[in-house]
Amino acid sequence: MCGIFGVFGSPKNEAAKWTYYGLYAQQHRGQESAGIVSSDGENVFSHFKMGLVSDVFKKPSSIENLKGSLAIGHNRYSTTGTSNEFNIQPLLVKTRFGSLSIAHNGNLVNTIELRQKLEEQGSIFRTSTDSEVIVHLIAKSQKATLEERVIEALLQVKGAYSLLIMSENQLIVARDPNGFKPLSYGRKDKSIVFASESCAFDLIDAEFVREVEPGEIIVVDVNGIKARKFADEVKKTFCIFELIYFSRPDSRVFGEFVDKVRRKFGKFLAIENNSVSDVVISVPDSSNTAALGYASTAKIKFEIGLIRNHYIGRTFIHPDQNMRDLGVKLKFNTVGGVLKDRRVTIVDDSIVRGTTLKKLAKLLRNAGAREVHVRISSPPVRFPCFYGMDFPTSKELVANQMTIKEMTAWLDVDSLSYLSIENTLEAAKISLQNSNGEFCDACFTGNYPENVPPNEKNIFQKC
Ligand code: 5GP
Ligand code: MG
Repeated sequence: MCGIFGVFGSPKNEAAKWTYYGLYAQQHRGQESAGIVSSDGENVFSHFKMGLVSDVFKKPSSIENLKGSLAIGHNRYSTTGTSNEFNIQPLLVKTRFGSLSIAHNGNLVNTIELRQKLEEQGSIFRTSTDSEVIVHLIAKSQKATLEERVIEALLQVKGAYSLLIMSENQLIVARDPNGFKPLSYGRKDKSIVFASESCAFDLIDAEFVREVEPGEIIVVDVNGIKARKFADEVKKTFCIFELIYFSRPDSRVFGEFVDKVRRKFGKFLAIENNSVSDVVISVPDSSNTAALGYASTAKIKFEIGLIRNHYIGRTFIHPDQNMRDLGVKLKFNTVGGVLKDRRVTIVDDSIVRGTTLKKLAKLLRNAGAREVHVRISSPPVRFPCFYGMDFPTSKELVANQMTIKEMTAWLDVDSLSYLSIENTLEAAKISLQNSNGEFCDACFTGNYPENVPPNEKNIFQKC
């Protein structure tokens, strides 16, 4: 998870502002903390804090102080366990070659081995993130240029990484050879920009150029842009969950607009598992697009049956026994007129622990729905993710612990069905026409990519 943004060559002192907007557009990719590091060619400036982008950069001075035409930024996804200020990115360090900062999206799978080795050699770690391992490997490299030092480091790490690395005067961008996580390359006038998702370009009126290729490194500095492959070709394994849930529908990811793929998930879901009902509703916002695809194919009216409050902050007082469902009610309320006495099909994009749907099903019943049919626009999530999605251990994944029949009873709904893996891949395939590869679907199938084997011990701090 996490969202990253970088810019080289903005008009004077604009880089941090563009990065702020780039992070703002990608707030959905991480809400735990945000940070920006900028450079004016000689000095490096930074500002990071826990919280949403708009809170972290509340004071105008927090952006104005970040001088220069070069900047990178990062939104961190909140992981389970305690949040930690030390883990805020971009990580910023001083090496013998000058300052180095790094913004990372993805999860490495050989962190523990590498970290142990580095610690045995005397390295001291400040954070508990896998990203810091990359920083150490770069700093220790004896190669002559930053580009070569970065490549030497990347050839030692395994797993998922879309990376932005910055010195005082260079921006280096790299994507792992499998291409797990998205990373796009754009342009605004003479400036070069990079973002996890292309929706960030739209906000600053930058033009989408292309995706950074898996296994590609791009160096941007005063001499121009230099792109090359740094690793041997391996099978691409794009994270299918980016298309199902994580990316915004208005972003172009893995070669296609997410909206288009997500509608297709909904369409195939209706073909496979139609329901007899009066209305189709979504769980806003994540399943809106799939629910629209479902409703139009099923020829059932799409209605807004749940209203989402977008303004809930990260902290709220824990509900007591009398207000047990307050958590879900803070986020969603039902529209009585749409639901009362109706047979309702609720389309959601996924079930992870099952907490959301269990509570929503009850809310729908309380609002008077006569029948509740659940349709999920992806297959059951049965296996943990080691590459960056926040999918916990098998035990916590409800589809790993129960059959669909058991889940239907547990959720207390009239029916439950999922999109098949075959049709999920078939729908997602439209994106591959432009990007040539395959998907990582390990969370559904347990087929982890061969060259990046999972390692339970390496479940560390995800980002
Ligand atoms: P559950 O409540 O079953 O644990 O999570 C499923 C719900 O959370 C779905 O509505 C889905 O949109 C959303 N979701 C799916 N994957 C993730 C994830 O990795 N992180 C977060 N925060 N939400 C997710
Ligand atoms: Mg959702």
